[in-house]
Amino acid sequence: MKRLDILITAGPTREYIDPVRFISNPSTGKMGYEIAQESARRGHRTILISGPTYLRPPKGVRFISVISAIDMNKEVKKYFPHTGVLIMCAAVSDYRVKRYSLTKIKRGKTVELNLKMVRNPDIIKEVQRHTYKLKHTLGAKMQSVVGFALETEDVEKNARQKLKEKKLDMIVASKVSKDTNPFGDIKTEVSVFTKNGEKYRLKGSKKKVAKILLDKIENM
Ligand code: C5P
Repeated sequence: MKRLDILITAGPTREYIDPVRFISNPSTGKMGYEIAQESARRGHRTILISGPTYLRPPKGVRFISVISAIDMNKEVKKYFPHTGVLIMCAAVSDYRVKRYSLTKIKRGKTVELNLKMVRNPDIIKEVQRHTYKLKHTLGAKMQSVVGFALETEDVEKNARQKLKEKKLDMIVASKVSKDTNPFGDIKTEVSVFTKNGEKYRLKGSKKKVAKILLDKIENM
């Protein structure tokens, strides 16, 4: 089996509004950590860039810890030129506050707190503005990019649209509804779509799904 340079992002990002408060999401990081662990176990040179989680970094993985989307963007940009496969598993916050308060925002007398938010960079889109010659990269001749997506409706339509818009090779989509919560710890159910028009469903523990995804990614 060929060894690859695999860059994985995982977990949520936190967008601080003042020194003690932030906006984030319930991502546990579990899926990305399982992929990173399996990737390292298979002998791939693996880098895991992670937002804040309660998980222990997997053995054999180069681990980079970040807080905000801006931090994650910076680190992904740094490592992407040496990456064969980027797997963007992270639940990146789409917005950050326009003005971070250096001191704790006081409750005050007004009932409403108005926060102005600005768009964060779409990391997966940004890194693909450049194409890199993979001179110093193991295995791969071309870079591949895998995205993840959470959808509340029209999973296939939305996932295919993101696959195209974000120029991905593969997208792994999960449905969020009151009966299915992909933010859970252990089990998952995903639909995978590839740029070659393949489509399949995977169901089971995140460990099992991570293994099958890597099998597919290795043969992309
Ligand atoms: O558009 P949406 O957030 O559903 O797309 C999900 C994919 O895009 C994921 O792979 C996620 O990591 C990536 N993403 C990103 N930068 C953002 C938002 C999402 O790279 N600001």
